[in-house]
Amino acid sequence: MDDDGLLTIGAFARLSRLSPKALRLYDELELLRPARVDRWSGYRHYAPEQLPQARLVSWLRQLGMPLARIREVVRLPPTAAAAEVMVFWAEQERSHLHRRDLADALLDELTGRETAMSAHESTVRWAALSDTGLVRQANQDTAYAGPGLLAVADGYGPDGGAAGSAVVSALREAVASAGDEGLPAALAGAVARAGATVAELPDSGTTVTALAWRGAQLALAHLGDSRAYLLRDGQLFRITEDHSYVQSLVAEGRLTPEEAEVHPQRALLLRALDGSSGTRAELSLRRSEPGDRYLLASDGLAAVAAEEAIGRVLAAASEPDGAVRELVALARAEGGPDNIAVAAAFVAA
Ligand code: MN
Repeated sequence: MDDDGLLTIGAFARLSRLSPKALRLYDELELLRPARVDRWSGYRHYAPEQLPQARLVSWLRQLGMPLARIREVVRLPPTAAAAEVMVFWAEQERSHLHRRDLADALLDELTGRETAMSAHESTVRWAALSDTGLVRQANQDTAYAGPGLLAVADGYGPDGGAAGSAVVSALREAVASAGDEGLPAALAGAVARAGATVAELPDSGTTVTALAWRGAQLALAHLGDSRAYLLRDGQLFRITEDHSYVQSLVAEGRLTPEEAEVHPQRALLLRALDGSSGTRAELSLRRSEPGDRYLLASDGLAAVAAEEAIGRVLAAASEPDGAVRELVALARAEGGPDNIAVAAAFVAA
């Protein structure tokens, strides 16, 4: 220890279990500044009181948190930092679940297992419901549920309703006639064809979130800020990311998810099916498990109801039909400021 009570980088490294190389990097990235840098030699010195922060950085690294995000977290007071760690961990779990389902779906695809599992299809039950809500004059939302497909579309602009129903009918046709090209290609083709129709509707567009299944294989197409959720083992996961301005700020760490929910620009979409060329749906593959419950919902539900409440309704319903009616009632009980579209599919346990 120096005469000013500071530790050398070597001593501090041993106590904090961070390497001197890591400490130099964290200094450069402003995660952990030394208490003093020797003007002549450039040697870094640390105060013993910096040890808790150094240990926090080390733990967050072990958790897999990116350095830029750690920089934000270590500047927060402990309770706010704890909340950030919980948000980060929930994101990790969601991403892990997504990758596991994707890996399973790819295995099905590569080994041809899905065809052997088509008996699974008859054990899926579904329902959809759309409602004007309590404030809007017209309903421009579309909800659909049928064999092998759930879809919701939230239209906007003078012909928003037509835009939404165009994309849903294109999806229905595509899924009904999907052959060997597979579900993701069928969904992508349908969204592209509907885009050409929407291009003819001036100043109008729509979001689209669709879930198609064949056996245990699921394909998800998503564009805009309607959402898809999965209830599995009693836990609700959101399996889509909003293509919205506020979500992009959350991803950059500039807004918390809670701030995004009340942000004045929360309805501003970065991507939607608006007929502009090059607009493509985001596609993903998943694999369903017995007992899974899937829900698609427009922002008329998601913007007013808490995820816990949505999860509770989805878990408590015995049939998809009851679930969609309860969810519409939930949005209306919260004031029903927007049109509401919900579609649910329950895989038998
Ligand atoms: Mn809406």
